Amino acid sequence: MATIFSRIVKGEIPCYKIAENDKFFAFLDINPVAKGHTLVIPKHETDYLFALDDMELAEMTVFAKKVALAIEKAIPCKRIGVAVIGLEVPHAHIHLIPITQEGDMDFKKEHVHMSEEEFLEVQRSIVERF
Ligand code: AMP
Repeated sequence: MATIFSRIVKGEIPCYKIAENDKFFAFLDINPVAKGHTLVIPKHETDYLFALDDMELAEMTVFAKKVALAIEKAIPCKRIGVAVIGLEVPHAHIHLIPITQEGDMDFKKEHVHMSEEEFLEVQRSIVERF
C-alpha cells in the first residue's frame, strides 16, 4: 500500500507544496515544530533514509539544501536545523526546521498551531524564495 507521502506526491492527499523536481518533493509539515517546518522526501518510495543508494541520498541532500536556503530567507531564524526521525511515516524524509535555539528542535514540546491562512502565507513566502 502506498505511503501517505506517496499519496501526497500523486496529489491524492493535499499538501502545502514547496518545491519538486523529477526525484524529490518538499512540503510543509502539517504538525510543525516551528513555522516553516518542511519535509523533503524522495518520490521513489523507500522506508529508511539510509536505505537510499548513495547517489539518490546525495541528490536529495542537494535538493534539501536549496529548500533550506529558501526557508532561511523566508522565516526569521538563525539556521535551518535538520532532523531525521521516521518513526511515524515509513517513507524516507528529512525535517528542515527554522531555529534560533537548541530547544526549537524539540519534537516533544507543544507544536505550533497554524491556521490555513498562516500555512498558505508561509508556503507562499518560501516558494517565492526558492
Ligand atoms: P516522523 O516519521 O517521526 O519523522 O514524523 C513524520 C512527520 O510527518 C511528522 O512531523 C508529521 O507531522 C508529518 N506528517 C504526517 N502526515 C502528514 C501530512 N499529511 N502532511 C504533512 N506532514 C505530515
